[in-house]
Amino acid sequence: MASPLALERIVVVGASLAGARAADALRRQGFAGTLDLVGAEKHPPYERPPLSKQILAGVWEFERASVDLPEDFEASWHLGRTATSLDLPSRTVALDDGSALEFDGLVIATGATPRALPGTEGLSNVFTLRTIEDALFLRSAAASAEHVVVIGGGFIGSEVAATLATREVWVTIVDPLPSLMGRVLGDDFGPYFEGLHSGHGVSLRLGVGVVSLESTPDGAVSCCLLSDGSRLACDVVVVGIGVTPATGWLAGSGVALDPADGSVVCDGTCAVLGENGAVLEGIVAAGDVARWDHPLFGRPVRVEHWENAVAMGEAAALRLMAVPGAETGYLDVPLFWSDQFGKKIQFVGLRSPGDEVLLVEGSTEEGKFLAVYSRDRVLTGALGVGRPARIIALRNLIAERATVEAVYSERS
Ligand code: FAD
Ligand code: NAP
Repeated sequence: MASPLALERIVVVGASLAGARAADALRRQGFAGTLDLVGAEKHPPYERPPLSKQILAGVWEFERASVDLPEDFEASWHLGRTATSLDLPSRTVALDDGSALEFDGLVIATGATPRALPGTEGLSNVFTLRTIEDALFLRSAAASAEHVVVIGGGFIGSEVAATLATREVWVTIVDPLPSLMGRVLGDDFGPYFEGLHSGHGVSLRLGVGVVSLESTPDGAVSCCLLSDGSRLACDVVVVGIGVTPATGWLAGSGVALDPADGSVVCDGTCAVLGENGAVLEGIVAAGDVARWDHPLFGRPVRVEHWENAVAMGEAAALRLMAVPGAETGYLDVPLFWSDQFGKKIQFVGLRSPGDEVLLVEGSTEEGKFLAVYSRDRVLTGALGVGRPARIIALRNLIAERATVEAVYSERS
């Protein structure tokens, strides 16, 4: 990787959370050269977590969601501009206005875009949720809706349902998986999360999929037909069926993309690899777009959550600047939170199917609990509901590769 002295011009592609945190860290590390930030959205960086919560609920205006940057932060902003290709031999990024930006250092932080449900293109009342515009359109449509069907029982599905149900909108979640948020949390606490939702009026159709949609002559969905033969009349549909890393602009560039999901392949230090498996000098990646070899968990990992975009953005900047220590690897133990019906749900670590799950504090009945996940007694994750302080302690134990027994001794 290029030494800091060789870095005179750095381009950051993706002007959102990971890109902003990387750019800020570059300046804080003393990078005084030209810094270009390219962002497809027309807005300066903003936080996405409030989109499905406070902004959808109508209790925050957009201005409150901006990403903090120092007042004296200096960069050339290219907002509303999309990077269309990367040319490695000339070290340039081409933009959609026909211009090109040369770089010595490049940060790839283009995040991810929502998967579309095939057959819903052009239907006026089908929404995905990723941008502020998406959130405002959905907020407005839901205000007069009688019944919202949410397809996908992951994060978007659960949070949108919780926010809208709190506004007394009738919502039904449909997901072929048997448990709400089952993909990330497994099935063990499905009954708790399902009870939380159904107790607040959300209807759940788990274990069934949407097989087709009926629409009106003017192109709006009026009914979802499910795989068990049932029908759900509706006037708004929200699709939250996962995301795809935004790497179309890198196709054919020589940057290694994971064949499974198209994410940017990094080594354990946020350095981007080429198709031959060698590090591409002076190129790093961070956030939802990046897959890295996690030094602690010993396997490739991609994390689609806020805390990783912040920490990896900073780690990638340090790696680019060759700050001592950055070469030892990006070791962050993943962490996410979700707010649903006033409950703070937090998870740290990485769960895999087959991990042992143990409830160590509280109970699902009281709605406050802590559970740990382990493999061969070594901690892999922890789920907390209403247990913020304990979750951070657990995160440290996971980083130390501690065993389940350490959870009890740490508490006593
Ligand atoms: P993104 O935020 O996706 O930003 C990438 C940026 O790059 C975008 O602005 C995009 O327009 C731009 N871009 C893409 N392609 C190009 C291109 N070719 N040229 C130029 N620009 C490009 N996480 C949590 O931990 N807790 C939460 O409660 C939580 N809530 C969430 C709620 C919602 C509604 C959403 C959508 C996400 C939520 N997340 C949450 C996840 C978290 O927001 C993301 O992990 C985080 O935004 C990832 O940041 P990023 O910068 O990597 O990518
Ligand atoms: P997600 O969390 O990956 O959940 C998608 C869900 O939809 C999964 O359960 C998936 O099951 C299911 N699904 C897939 N295809 C389906 C289909 N055809 N019909 C019905 N269900 C289907 O993704 P998301 O909820 O769309 O969230 C988008 C992104 O925003 C993610 O990166 C997420 O991490 C992020 N986000 C995070 C938070 C948070 O951290 N609190 C909040 C909101 C959003 P399979 O796994 O079987 O495909």
